Amino acid sequence: MIGQRENVSGAHFAFTDRWGGVSAAPYEELNLGGAVGDDAAAVTTNRELAAKSLGLDPGRVVWMNQVHGADVAVVDGPWGSTADIPSVDAIVTTGRGLALAVLTADCVPVLLADPVAGVAAAAHAGRPGMVAGVVPAAVKAMIELGADPARIVARTGPTVCGSCYEVPEAMRADVAAVEPTAYAETSWGTSSVDVSAGVHSQLERLGVHDREQSPVCTLESRDHFSYRRDRATGRLAGYVWLD
Ligand SMILES: [Zn+2]
Repeated sequence: MIGQRENVSGAHFAFTDRWGGVSAAPYEELNLGGAVGDDAAAVTTNRELAAKSLGLDPGRVVWMNQVHGADVAVVDGPWGSTADIPSVDAIVTTGRGLALAVLTADCVPVLLADPVAGVAAAAHAGRPGMVAGVVPAAVKAMIELGADPARIVARTGPTVCGSCYEVPEAMRADVAAVEPTAYAETSWGTSSVDVSAGVHSQLERLGVHDREQSPVCTLESRDHFSYRRDRATGRLAGYVWLD
């Protein structure tokens, strides 16, 4: 259910794995994504199960309508209705006890928090979002709310690794022109990108030094959903919240 969990000075970070939910194949078991073709009631149950295991009120978890962009929304409570969920790839809050959630199945889930200022953010950084700068945009929004990059704790979750994420050479060149550290090669010797490396370079340049990266590669791990491996599959979630 919860593959990784950490509490840093009252800032909580958690990433799910695919087990412990009620979804049927090919979304088994803990699919948390509402737009992947799974039964809506199963997704609701899964979100309740995951929240409960984290000690969270499922009604106090804020989700996004992720679109591979770089827009950020500041939130101070749950959205009123599904129609109110904005199309953004990062959300930021100063609300205590309000959990921000990001859905992924290969893309990089990025969780950020400054426990001293009481500012948290969740961002969805796939290849396009990383290139577009969604993570720097989230950090900028945090700073505007009082966060200090030197105090920001950053955790990135399970993602397809640079040894697996094959792309055409021209695409690798385009990505590396923006973030040189994202230049990678697959384990079979073809061109690839390492999106997580690019995200961490962006954070490093912004002065965010307290960073950790999940060692899990979603494509290699059968305990995680991978869109590139399975196409029709579920979504993992990353959660961040402040006491
Ligand atoms: Zn891999």
